[in-house]
Amino acid sequence: MILPGATIGVLGGGQLGRMFVVAARTMGYKTVVLDSDKTSPAGLIADHHICAGYEDQAGLKKMAELCDAVTTEFENVPAASLRKLSESCFVSPSAESVEVAQNRGREKNFARQAGLETTPFKTILTTSDINAAVEITGFPSILKLSSLGYDGKGQAIVRSVEEVENKFKEFGSVECVLEKMLDLKQEVSVILGRNVTGDVSVFPVSENVHVNGILHTSTVPANISEEVTALAQKQAMALADAMNYVGILAVEFFITGDNHLVFNEMAPRPHNSGHYTLDATVTSQYEQQVRSLCGLPTGDARLTSPVVMVNLLGDLWPVDWAKLFSEKNLKLHLYGKEEARPGRKMGHYNVLAESTEQAFGIAVDVFKTIS
Ligand code: ADP
Ligand code: MG
Repeated sequence: MILPGATIGVLGGGQLGRMFVVAARTMGYKTVVLDSDKTSPAGLIADHHICAGYEDQAGLKKMAELCDAVTTEFENVPAASLRKLSESCFVSPSAESVEVAQNRGREKNFARQAGLETTPFKTILTTSDINAAVEITGFPSILKLSSLGYDGKGQAIVRSVEEVENKFKEFGSVECVLEKMLDLKQEVSVILGRNVTGDVSVFPVSENVHVNGILHTSTVPANISEEVTALAQKQAMALADAMNYVGILAVEFFITGDNHLVFNEMAPRPHNSGHYTLDATVTSQYEQQVRSLCGLPTGDARLTSPVVMVNLLGDLWPVDWAKLFSEKNLKLHLYGKEEARPGRKMGHYNVLAESTEQAFGIAVDVFKTIS
């Protein structure tokens, strides 16, 4: 076990890293952030900020010297950097786990092997793969960059072979997946924390609504049956077991009209849809990240109140904060980003209430007053 007083580090200085740093400091650890941005949200509040890129050898060496253990908040951190660090300190999640989650084709195949259902899909390496892919997916389908896509970026809905070809070229003719477009009834996610001894705690299932490809709200508990809830949690655990995963794993699922649970993607880090855990579970996903990284027992992931999380994007700026603070059941979290740009995640709020309906009503009313 790595205990308070030790130094733990995170690769990436965004809001997820910032909330990890807050949790770690609260628990008595010293913190290090590696990020090339001088004003990164996590770097600003860490004990030590190494201002360097993810592949900067001197930066990585410094990190390894300072830290007893290192995790990541950024899914596309080069696996080679994680491997390098793991030569001199404990690293979780492992380079192998992160590599699986970094590639859409690889993660879908991995999920299938673990017994999960995925969307019908095919990897496209060259235009000559397109016809065979279309036979599997039909139209409409979605072309997605295999790696580096996020918040709906790097993907396009396509309706003909010609459109697939054009989009593939537009994306730079790099590896993509073509997947069948499903008629979604709901989208949900499951987050879990697992430590090196295999001790695992699964958070409640969150129901997620996206606007323009970016998460807008998460509602917990999700409005789904107990069976689907249990299945989603079981499948997330099966994935974690199959990878011998250590750290926080977030799994996104689609739910189709006939209540089928379909694996979409996973992230080897805390997730935007888990921000609700800051105020509505016994242990937050960030505390759980510290616990799993440090080999501590995972904390209780039990929900303490129905909750609705609303993302605050830069489009809303400037915001009349007084409106938010006048709502007594609302918890505001801001990430300390100086510049508000459209689509940029600046903060979020959680509304706690007796029921998700009530929380949703308050969340929507407040949102209207600031948009
Ligand atoms: P990102 O990495 O940007 O989150 P996702 O694969 O999760 O990429 O896609 C973003 C959103 O686009 C999903 O949350 C969902 O709303 C929609 N979407 C993605 N794939 C499909 C699909 N096969 N069928 C229907 N909707 C989809
Ligand atoms: Mg997604």
